[in-house]
Amino acid sequence: MKALVLNGKQDVEYKEIPTPECPDDGFLMRVEAVGLCGSDVRNYTHGHSKLQYPAVLGHENAGIVVEVGEACKEYKVGDKLVLNPAIPCGKCYYCENDNRGLCENLKVVGTQVQGGFAQYMAVGSDIIERGQILRMPEDLEYDQVILAELLSSVIRAQEQLEVGLNDTVVIVGSGPIGCLHSQIAKLRGATTIVMADINQERVDAVRPFGGTHFVNSAEVDLVQYVKDLTGGIGADVVIVAAPSAKPHQEGLLMLKKEGRLSIFGGLSKEDPWSTMDGNLIHYNRLKIIGAYSYSPCDFKKGFDLLAGGQINMDMITHRLPLKDMEQGVQLIREGKAMKVVLLPQVE
Ligand SMILES: [Zn+2]
Ligand SMILES: [Zn+2]
Repeated sequence: MKALVLNGKQDVEYKEIPTPECPDDGFLMRVEAVGLCGSDVRNYTHGHSKLQYPAVLGHENAGIVVEVGEACKEYKVGDKLVLNPAIPCGKCYYCENDNRGLCENLKVVGTQVQGGFAQYMAVGSDIIERGQILRMPEDLEYDQVILAELLSSVIRAQEQLEVGLNDTVVIVGSGPIGCLHSQIAKLRGATTIVMADINQERVDAVRPFGGTHFVNSAEVDLVQYVKDLTGGIGADVVIVAAPSAKPHQEGLLMLKKEGRLSIFGGLSKEDPWSTMDGNLIHYNRLKIIGAYSYSPCDFKKGFDLLAGGQINMDMITHRLPLKDMEQGVQLIREGKAMKVVLLPQVE
């Protein structure tokens, strides 16, 4: 089969590798669509502590079963599926305490297990038993259903933040994640949703995704803007969906008393530090909440919202053959693409 093999940082090769064997206790899936996620761009660019080269990335996978092992009774050839890439161990402290998204021994498809940047994937009993596989609804396409993965982390973050009725929510960073945050905030009852980005094209492009106010934060002082918008009170919630520490400090200044700040975007390994005004946190009783990962229930919720037609999926701007992954990376880096989906079956 053809696969996109990562040999090192920024070093990929589209080449023929052996098609994985169908596991006796699982099945072989032909990958029809795989999302090119921000984390793929990061792993491609900077590597990842759990990646071993050569590696095949790709964790937002949907496809069709083409072969089934003898001991696998649950699936049959022709089943159309979407995979949650997280494979929790089921035994550690967090798994036992019903928080599988924080599993200490989490394996992830596309990091420790061959991902979907390939034409086929072997799905064994570890994924079937401890992971999560959902059947595609009839009226969703493969390239749409892969959004369930991004959406699940957004859903988890907003549950942590308790976004609710009549809230003012500021979203810093208007990429595909920002567009999902705005829609989930709206579904949860927020009435004022400010979407900010430093890229004017993005500020213009994100209007259909549930926001109410759109700000180019390279040109407008976002803190002042939010203060003015809220009569000097501040926002209930600020979500930083950008890989930058500066919005953490600004986020505190935009919040009302007892407001909640979500640190949704990770920072670079070389410079992970953030400076925040401790007195603001103290006197204003602010909450700062980290957002990472999700549990199977979040993945199911994301999937159901997509299947129910409650999410505008037009943030998928590019569908490219798998071999053009680096072009997709470039489009994302330049802010010219929102969500890129790769198609391993298209040569
Ligand atoms: Zn992802
Ligand atoms: Zn575990």
